[in-house]
Amino acid sequence: MVTQRFLALAIVCAFIACAHGKLSYENYGVYRVDITTDEQLALLQQLESLPNGYTFLDFPSNVAASVEVVIPPAEKNNVERLFQKHGIQFSLLTGNLKLVLDKERPARKKLEDGFGWENFHELEEIYAWIDEMVLQYASVLSVETIGQTYEKRDMKVIKLSYKPGNQGIVIDANIHAREWITSASITWVLNELLTSDDPRVRDIAENYDWYIVPVANPDGFKYSHTTDRLWRKTRTPHNLLCYGTDPNRNFGFQWNNGGTSPTPCSDTYAGTAPESEVEVSNLTTFIRSVAANVKLSLSIHSRGQYILLPFGYNNAPRAYNYQDLMQIGRRASVDMYKLYQKPYRVGTTADVMYVASGISVDWAFAVAGIPLSYTFELRDQGEFGFVLPAEQIVPNAQELLEAFVALIDEARNLDYM
Ligand SMILES: [Zn+2]
Repeated sequence: MVTQRFLALAIVCAFIACAHGKLSYENYGVYRVDITTDEQLALLQQLESLPNGYTFLDFPSNVAASVEVVIPPAEKNNVERLFQKHGIQFSLLTGNLKLVLDKERPARKKLEDGFGWENFHELEEIYAWIDEMVLQYASVLSVETIGQTYEKRDMKVIKLSYKPGNQGIVIDANIHAREWITSASITWVLNELLTSDDPRVRDIAENYDWYIVPVANPDGFKYSHTTDRLWRKTRTPHNLLCYGTDPNRNFGFQWNNGGTSPTPCSDTYAGTAPESEVEVSNLTTFIRSVAANVKLSLSIHSRGQYILLPFGYNNAPRAYNYQDLMQIGRRASVDMYKLYQKPYRVGTTADVMYVASGISVDWAFAVAGIPLSYTFELRDQGEFGFVLPAEQIVPNAQELLEAFVALIDEARNLDYM
């Protein structure tokens, strides 16, 4: 009965999305929900995995945690009753998510035709900007297609290299579609690596080869612009109602060992097998091809302000160089804080955020053998979440560049780079 109602609702939602093109989130509520018992956890995990129109902004992976969930207007009363019935503490963060979404992007100015960081850009605009930069900086910058997505979009890696013999640094961003701040920040950082006069920036730009995948999930990213701002996964179809695999649960190390869902509708669905997603296999094939010369790999995500190190899976041991990873991560956090006093917490994914497996940072460390592997979770800590206003792109990206300078400096102190 319950399932039938959910299915009916999902079909209605799917129909609405089709009819109106883009989901407006008008009158959708955003709730913060505290998980205190195993029974509550199981209930929330069940709600998360159904095609019910609910969007969990965090996966309910353990007790003693809180998660945010977006609820359609017609479901608000039902879900509040359900929470009350199960003794779940909740608070309504906003009664109308559309008002938050409206603050994300400034009205397009007539004169602002070129690429910049006053606004978020679509995939085609990012790719066009990269092509322009490659033309302008042809002696040091190149771009390569490392494969195509499920929907046949190109996946691109930018390579910045000032001289032969440099060690490499690998960075991926926006593998989670809704995390727009990540591709916006990394393109700003790339621009700084090319144009900054700061001797610290020139040092790291010119003495390392930078491999940057600015949008590691182009299909999902596109969909987050055209149809559903809060889309997270790839766009692989699984059945009539459920699309997408969580690409950052699909890497081939400790796959499906905690913090994942076996249900295709879930936002943390791990896929049918390790690297079942072509986007992930394209990325790992590329990283393997350069890994022998890479000591630092970074996966850029949002949100929450964390610097995360291996590992994330269930009952994982400490990495062999845990103390070094912590020292280098803490140095980045301290230097980032100096800019705008935004605190970044440092620790393993499992320790400071939640259990998660099949994730890129663990794969890069354990399989690709890259000794310094981190996930960055950029701003913020809850006020805007995944829909950070565009005016925060530059300060956020400045913090990220400061982190890169600090990571490399501390890694040099410890003789990694
Ligand atoms: Zn993410």
